[in-house]
Amino acid sequence: MTKPVTFNRLVSILDQAFAKLPDGRTGQNVTYSMSDAAMAAFSVFFMQSPSFLAHQEAMQGRERRNNAASLFGIDKIPSDPQIRNLLDPVTPANLSAPFWEVFSLLEESEELQSYRRLAGQWLVALDGTQYFHSSKIHCKRCTVTVRNETEYYSHTAITPVLVAPDEKRVIALEPEFIQPQDGQVKQDCERNAAKRWLTQHAAYLAEHKVTFLGDDLYCNQPFCEQVLRQKLNFIFTCKPESHMALYTEVALLARMGAVEQFTQRHWTGNGHEVWTYRYVNDVPLRAGADALRVNWCELTIVHEETGEQLYHNAFATNFRLTTHNVPAIVAANCCYPTRVPCEFQGKRGQVVLDQLRTVDKQRLVGRFGTIDAEVQQEVLAVFAEMFAE
Ligand SMILES: [Zn+2]
Repeated sequence: MTKPVTFNRLVSILDQAFAKLPDGRTGQNVTYSMSDAAMAAFSVFFMQSPSFLAHQEAMQGRERRNNAASLFGIDKIPSDPQIRNLLDPVTPANLSAPFWEVFSLLEESEELQSYRRLAGQWLVALDGTQYFHSSKIHCKRCTVTVRNETEYYSHTAITPVLVAPDEKRVIALEPEFIQPQDGQVKQDCERNAAKRWLTQHAAYLAEHKVTFLGDDLYCNQPFCEQVLRQKLNFIFTCKPESHMALYTEVALLARMGAVEQFTQRHWTGNGHEVWTYRYVNDVPLRAGADALRVNWCELTIVHEETGEQLYHNAFATNFRLTTHNVPAIVAANCCYPTRVPCEFQGKRGQVVLDQLRTVDKQRLVGRFGTIDAEVQQEVLAVFAEMFAE
């Protein structure tokens, strides 16, 4: 029997990490412990309630007990400014251990067995996400972009997550912060952060059969080579504009009849769709004699009655492709439970709720229209799941 992963075990993992946080205070007046400050901050995010701590203080006054103490073990509840003062100097690296401890706990408890796909692989999606943006507030670690002669400041991180098609939950792995000195081009910054993350965690992941998923910016030779060197696998989006040599070769092979093709017919409830898969093994990822050889596949979805193209995407992978495994390889890339498929103005896309953030109105380019009622319902259902206690 494996031990169940209980809330108390998760909290105790955090507690141990918080106890080791460096304390920058020098004076005698140490009313609040670093541990209490960190756990207090965590409790606010966990409860999804900004006023959680204030409620607990009121409860303590009334009833001589409070949930901050009983659930999270917080001894003395610090105020928001006190929490900020204590935690601002702490670097995020001090909090990396709990991500991996929780992960091994889930692994030991066999909670992650159902996440195995493609002959026993775990799928880890790499994606950059912005968590701060302003044209006014900034710090020395901000990435600065200039648009219409205005400087915008932002912070971005890569947030790798363990995903699987049909699994409702994703498991967050340790994030890696994108640093402005990583490069001038946005793509370089994100890729370099991913390389750092990989260097740090590849040895651990290699023991577990891991396949990385990611968009076109990861589909680049140095990055793919690093993945393979670490005995890991990849399935990355592969666009023609950034892979001209590969697509030239695919076109050539297609003329020779060497690109395999097969179709499937899918009933959607209000019509048939034709799903056409094409694939070929052993094509160069880039130009030049030292090009990494990869395997390429694409899926095009067309409305059978109207002939309208609803979806198209292509991928490069190190997995040897066969008619048998191509659909699963393609499906691996569409498996975020926090993304709701939708059709908008004749194009198939996704409502990407994991990338949701508050943005200033001035950043919105324009109003394009409304998604249909069914998708709206589904978005609400995913929200309910995301924010459920
Ligand atoms: Zn900043």
